Amino acid sequence: MRPGGGGGVAPVEVWRARGKRLTRPRRIILDVVRASDAHPSALMVYRQVRRRLPRVSLATVYRNLRMLAAEGVLSERADAAGTRFDGNTAPHDHFTCVACGRIYDVPALAAPRVRARVASRTGFEVLSQRIEFYGRCGACRRAAGPTRARRKPWQDEASRAPRASRT
Ligand SMILES: [Zn+2]
Ligand SMILES: [Zn+2]
Repeated sequence: MRPGGGGGVAPVEVWRARGKRLTRPRRIILDVVRASDAHPSALMVYRQVRRRLPRVSLATVYRNLRMLAAEGVLSERADAAGTRFDGNTAPHDHFTCVACGRIYDVPALAAPRVRARVASRTGFEVLSQRIEFYGRCGACRRAAGPTRARRKPWQDEASRAPRASRT
């Protein structure tokens, strides 16, 4: 199990063997992720943690994030942009804004029905699922405005064309 693109990560078992202590860095890392609703990357968490622990390394932050995820205290999600961490361990789905890249939590409305239907159609035992929504968030919709949002590429061409050279 390796997150998309990430390499050189020590297996979780190695860290598990060293015992699970809630050290100060781990507690701070957990606080940072739980306080955020942005599904931060390890680098984002590191920048926050460093304010409270100036000598912490990115490797330490990453290692602890993965340990916390392995223990189920956090959840880990690999996507095209890399591994992100989620302090919300309750069932929920995600909405990714294609304009600003933010990942939002949305209620898991489809999950139970989708799971049952997939199981009945295939005969598979479905243990979990990941449902992703994509679109534009409220802030980006407001920023773009209704006219620009509805404009098609050919309308840009059309508006440029009649602009004849003025004397
Ligand atoms: Zn957005
Ligand atoms: Zn989430």
